[in-house]
Amino acid sequence: MAHIKLENVVKRFGDVVAVKDFNLEIHDKEFVVFLGPSGCGKTTTLRLIAGLETPEEGDIFIDGQRVNDLSPADRDIAFVFQFYALYPHLNVYDNIAFPLKAVKVEKSEIDAQVKRVAEILQISDMLKRKPSVLSGGEMQRVALGRAMVRQPKVYLLDEPMANLDAKIRVDTRAEIKRLQHEIGATTIFVTHDQVEAMSLADRIAVIHEGVLQQIGTPHEIYNRPQSLFVAGFMGMPTMNLLDAEPTNRDGASVLRLSHTDVHLHISPQRQARITSDAEENGLVFGIRPEHITAAKQPSKPHIPAQVHLIEPLGAVNILDMRLGTHSETEDPILLRVRTHPTFRVAVGDTIGLRFDEKEMHLFDRKTEQTLW
Ligand code: ATP
Repeated sequence: MAHIKLENVVKRFGDVVAVKDFNLEIHDKEFVVFLGPSGCGKTTTLRLIAGLETPEEGDIFIDGQRVNDLSPADRDIAFVFQFYALYPHLNVYDNIAFPLKAVKVEKSEIDAQVKRVAEILQISDMLKRKPSVLSGGEMQRVALGRAMVRQPKVYLLDEPMANLDAKIRVDTRAEIKRLQHEIGATTIFVTHDQVEAMSLADRIAVIHEGVLQQIGTPHEIYNRPQSLFVAGFMGMPTMNLLDAEPTNRDGASVLRLSHTDVHLHISPQRQARITSDAEENGLVFGIRPEHITAAKQPSKPHIPAQVHLIEPLGAVNILDMRLGTHSETEDPILLRVRTHPTFRVAVGDTIGLRFDEKEMHLFDRKTEQTLW
């Protein structure tokens, strides 16, 4: 279907650089999700690919053809926006048929196409209804149907589920994933919801302040973040990120978590990655709440810590553990730990923590790049 390539693409709005030196290759039939906080440049990048914005610098290619100067209509792309703009005076059938009628496709062909997508989207029994009597999820499916009926090379979906309630969102998510596999069209899906991104994407492109931070499979993005931003953005709750400094203890290299008594032994390989530049820039240690095990009886090599707060989330509990206190502000240094609800503790208890060594991360505070 389509292969998309962005080379050194830059887009500015006055003083705002919405997209900075963006390089990305999307393979044929791939499902790529653009993920990032509000205002990071996701929609602008999508609009550049669609031809609704023009890059100031760089090139955009679709199937090897440079499309910078092609109008949106000539790019063979279907765009579904966050706000599904259905024609209120047309019924579902005519809404879906609209793009085909506009290019004067034969009536029998239109009929076959509309019925085909209506079946896939499970809206065949609603074809005669007007949008005003449809639920949000149904309207969204009609908007998707209108995009699908064209069978374009590329689908661009900009937060297409933002207006749906939680249950319909989960159902529609599954539907979109199934559809994309069935149709096999290259798809770019924009969201700021990491669960949506993780569950839909072949690869996730994490964007921050117009810069592509990392592109990788959901597993790579979650488990091997290449920057402090990606590490801190993914996960609920997010990764624990604590200041740290390398030091020596009893002749061995250790990493001390700042303002605490926690000293972590580090292997020579990990030690070697802490360059003098990184040491000067400052270090940030990272570990996810699920990569820490808690035990009621602190014993070596457990790290003793005090329960500061308990957040019961149903299937799991999140414990905020106090590791120390900032010397200047007296604020507690906290670490979040995920435990099973049967692990019963009370605020004020001292328990033991153990970090999964394989899952420890370290970042350069200044460059924000991953060291381990
Ligand atoms: P959201 O998730 O909130 O939709 P986004 O990641 O899609 O955000 P963009 O809409 O691409 O972000 O915006 C990126 C930056 O460019 C923002 O700072 C935004 O204010 C700015 N911007 C986008 N479009 C325009 C425009 N037409 N004129 C001026 N500034 C714009």
